[in-house]
Amino acid sequence: MTTLIIGGGWSGLAAAITCVQRGQPVHLVESAKQLGGRARNSSWQDLTIDNGQHLMIGAYDRMLAMMQSIGIDTNDVFHRQAMDITIHDTDYPPLLLSSKSYLPWPLSLAWNLAASAGVSGLKQVVQLQLSITRLLSENDLSVSEWLHQSNQSKRLVKQLWEPLCLATLNTPIEEASAHLLAIVLRDSLGKGKSAADSLIPRQPLGDLFPKVAANYIQQQGCTISLQTRVKELVIKNGKIAGAITDQGANLQADNIIVATNLSQSKKLLSAHMEHHSPLEYPICTVYLQYATDTRLTALMLGMSGTVSQWIFDRSEQTPGLMAVVISAPGKHEKMAKDELIDLVCKEVHEMFPAMPRHAQQGFVIREKRATFACTVGIEKQRPECKTDISGLWLAGDYVANNYPATLEGTIRNGENCAKLLLDTP
Ligand SMILES: Cc1cc2nc3c(=O)[nH]c(=O)nc-3n(C[C@H](O)[C@H](O)[C@H](O)COP(=O)(O)OP(=O)(O)OC[C@H]3O[C@@H](n4cnc5c(N)ncnc54)[C@H](O)[C@@H]3O)c2cc1C
Repeated sequence: MTTLIIGGGWSGLAAAITCVQRGQPVHLVESAKQLGGRARNSSWQDLTIDNGQHLMIGAYDRMLAMMQSIGIDTNDVFHRQAMDITIHDTDYPPLLLSSKSYLPWPLSLAWNLAASAGVSGLKQVVQLQLSITRLLSENDLSVSEWLHQSNQSKRLVKQLWEPLCLATLNTPIEEASAHLLAIVLRDSLGKGKSAADSLIPRQPLGDLFPKVAANYIQQQGCTISLQTRVKELVIKNGKIAGAITDQGANLQADNIIVATNLSQSKKLLSAHMEHHSPLEYPICTVYLQYATDTRLTALMLGMSGTVSQWIFDRSEQTPGLMAVVISAPGKHEKMAKDELIDLVCKEVHEMFPAMPRHAQQGFVIREKRATFACTVGIEKQRPECKTDISGLWLAGDYVANNYPATLEGTIRNGENCAKLLLDTP
């Protein structure tokens, strides 16, 4: 049996690892020069940076298990810390989402929330948490409608829920699926203290998993072909037969896993199956290089009321380097690079006066199709991994599961897809 995997992002790699671990050889083809897809290495001057700042959390258990299964020491490659997030705002005092306290979890979280947002703020958050079970049993609605129904104050909407919704769903609250946000909250805050830990990579994303995964797959005798784009699938009598590359090669296979991003999958599959069409939304990362002794007061800080949403201190990899993340569509998309760098520097300085007004250098990476948009009713639009065409399977972050576009969701889909394929007679 020959298995072809199209796409060398984290999902395609997870599918390949699962296959080889069960003794099934694979051929993985990737159109780019490097593996990693939307979580890959990029370069700026002589620095290796990420194509976009990523944050993982302790609840990413399949991602951690997959890494460990190929020999990655996850204690070594991540800076793991208990949840300790402060969101700074242009109008309100800082709000604390933190487990730092002598109290046990989740009282520690409640204590810090009450200390920063008042007892009424804490009560509102508890009210929202308590509404999750009912919410999930009813039709989906937008996050802003859910917040309104659960009587969340203007402050909590602006300083807590908007930033969390953008960070997790990459979708503005007016459009975002309340169901998906509720599931994220349930799984990250409701599953014990360690599930909410922040995992900040100590290495560039491409070194963290894709490079090690590629070595592992090749050591098992499997082939990885870079710069090989599949332009067409070959299907005969309702069964997959192979794929044609843009160089005209016909790659024959009994099984094909399409592990490409949503828009590429739509192109490859449009002739063969009805495909649902969620939108894709951008994420912009602005790298700012300050003097090497410049530090934030924490590894990451939230910002609200500003175009900038989160700032990460990347000094552990490159002293004085900060990464500012701007999720979802917005006015920043139309701004020229230098204008955006200047605005972000100004916002950072105004929010954190100890930071210099200007960075020495700045660099902008815009990922225009960073994630599928998690809009209302999205659950019903995501395709299953098994298709109607015998031998054709789908992996990738947009395939149905309970996660938004995350590395955990995409690794789960890659792994599940490979397992289904292997278990199908
Ligand atoms: C800027 C940014 C920030 C993010 N932040 C976070 C975060 O903090 N936490 C988190 O968990 N997730 C985050 N994500 C989401 C996460 O990176 C993605 O969900 C994940 O990388 C998707 O992996 P994938 O394998 O499904 O798809 P992709 O990474 O898109 O991989 C698909 C691969 O297929 C290749 N390909 C496409 N078409 C073809 C073809 N025709 N032939 C051959 N190859 C093809 C592509 O080149 C690509 O390498 C972020 C994403 C971005 C862009």
